[in-house]
Amino acid sequence: MSRLPSVAAPLDAEERRGKPAVVCYPVETLPVADMDLMERARGTLEKVDEVIVPPRDARSFRVPQGHFFRIVSIEGAQVGDLNLWNADDLSERFFSGKTRALHATHVTTGDRLWSTLPYLRPMATITHDTLGWYGWDRDGSGVHDVIGTRCDPYTNRLLSGGDYHHCCHSNLTRALAAEKHLSVTEAEPHIHDVLNVFMCTGFTQDTHQYFMKASPVRPGDFIEFFAEIDLLGALSACPGGDCSATHSSDAAACYPLKVEILRADPQILDGWAPPSRNAYPRTHR
Ligand SMILES: [Zn+2]
Repeated sequence: MSRLPSVAAPLDAEERRGKPAVVCYPVETLPVADMDLMERARGTLEKVDEVIVPPRDARSFRVPQGHFFRIVSIEGAQVGDLNLWNADDLSERFFSGKTRALHATHVTTGDRLWSTLPYLRPMATITHDTLGWYGWDRDGSGVHDVIGTRCDPYTNRLLSGGDYHHCCHSNLTRALAAEKHLSVTEAEPHIHDVLNVFMCTGFTQDTHQYFMKASPVRPGDFIEFFAEIDLLGALSACPGGDCSATHSSDAAACYPLKVEILRADPQILDGWAPPSRNAYPRTHR
């Protein structure tokens, strides 16, 4: 919004501004996960694989539907940028904007990561978050945002004039290219707006600008997800480190992140089925 208002407010401006806020999407009809079932399944988890994501780089990983995965802080405070795709169809991918609209600017246990149109179904459900205690701080900021897009070399060029090749966008591009045997040019259009894992962000009170502050994450903290469909994931250990000061450079202290893939006792999940893709017939008339 322009900070140079040139239009006089109408006489009824305060009345117009005083209308009640209405939550855009009623949560009462939003399909919720069976968190009791999730909790029972969590009690039987067994680690079947793990991937270490090096600092200022990204790695891909796969999670079969009905499995869980954790993103774990190891060694030091570090933010991660997460992309998710349907493992069988890259056109179905995480829809950060709709997830934000359906849940909130920041997500935690019980929230779900929704996929793009026309699929619009939960790809993953957050089943545990050791930073769930953080809530909202006095700056109005929270953890695990679905606001930010990902650091990228184009915005960096725009703002600084320089080139940096280890922004999360580039890291995710290289990771997907390696996983799918694509060139970086072919892989790049599949990279999408992220879940900013462990990142602490908000909007300034006065100008409503996106801000970041030091992540409260500490080694041992993790966020855990239940894979609702077969997933291909990619995680970048952001060059911003804990994002307390800067990103898009080698200036910040950076640490690896760990992704753990976990299997629950299949008997407990007997009767659970992956969500169907959205039933809207796509006629648009
Ligand atoms: Zn980044």
